[in-house]
Amino acid sequence: MKRYDIKAKKSFGQNFLIDDSALKEIVNLSEIGKNDLVIEIGPGLGNLTYYFQNSNLLLIEIDDRMLQILQDRFESNYNTTIINNDVLKINIDEEIEKIQKFKNIEFSKIKVVANLPYYITSPIIFKLLEDSTKVSEIVVMVQEEVADRIIAKSKSKDYGILTLMIQYYARATKQIIVPGSSFIPSPNVTSAIIKIIKEDKYQDIDAKIFKELVHKSFANRRKKIINSLVINKLLNLEKENIDKILKKCGISENARAEELDIDKYIEVTKQLMNL
Ligand code: SAM
Repeated sequence: MKRYDIKAKKSFGQNFLIDDSALKEIVNLSEIGKNDLVIEIGPGLGNLTYYFQNSNLLLIEIDDRMLQILQDRFESNYNTTIINNDVLKINIDEEIEKIQKFKNIEFSKIKVVANLPYYITSPIIFKLLEDSTKVSEIVVMVQEEVADRIIAKSKSKDYGILTLMIQYYARATKQIIVPGSSFIPSPNVTSAIIKIIKEDKYQDIDAKIFKELVHKSFANRRKKIINSLVINKLLNLEKENIDKILKKCGISENARAEELDIDKYIEVTKQLMNL
């Protein structure tokens, strides 16, 4: 940073990871094969990139100050592509397709690794799960609080929309906890590395309906689920219809959103799909 006269930008969520053991943990968990493509979101100064420089690499970085550093460090590698853009604005599958065509190869697996900018953790994870059919695994550093929401069990305070939406698309595990002192500048939160493996478990379940059901169930999480769904106008249905469906799925009239596991939400979604 001194050499390039760069200061970390808060607005881009820049907390650079300087802890070798945490960096190596991300590398080990990602289990990259020779014919895989590694996509790194927010490579920054290249601390994590350094460990993947012998892999096929796609780097996506919004901060153009980092470009010179990334080019100096990695662009001589034939297998590295750098995109200077906001990850939320690009079509990731199209970019993967372009690299495959240009290099005339078909990657075995496409995996995302990152020390994510915390201000957009959820939008990035959802973009990867909802919009990309090519990315199959994600190993990322997130705030520990977010990791706990992702892996939460029903009936706990952390259980909610994030938990269920991730479960719909994937299987997630929390791996290790990383203290603030492992970063420069150090954030005042603890972080955790999570691994997300995509699954096609619910391919025949309408994602739009599932999403609306989950969002509207938790919109008033202290209320009974039936009331939350009625107040928030689930698919514009009348109360009696919602009531009938919940009863059909064996859901008690006093149940709250956080008491139901994903199987129940899937069951209700199936009933809603039949309407
Ligand atoms: N990978 C580096 C490391 O571990 O030291 C940097 C991680 S830092 C927490 C997050 C990085 O994401 C920064 O380099 C930041 O500029 C970049 N970033 C922030 N918002 C972004 C966005 N919307 N699209 C792409 N990169 C972004």
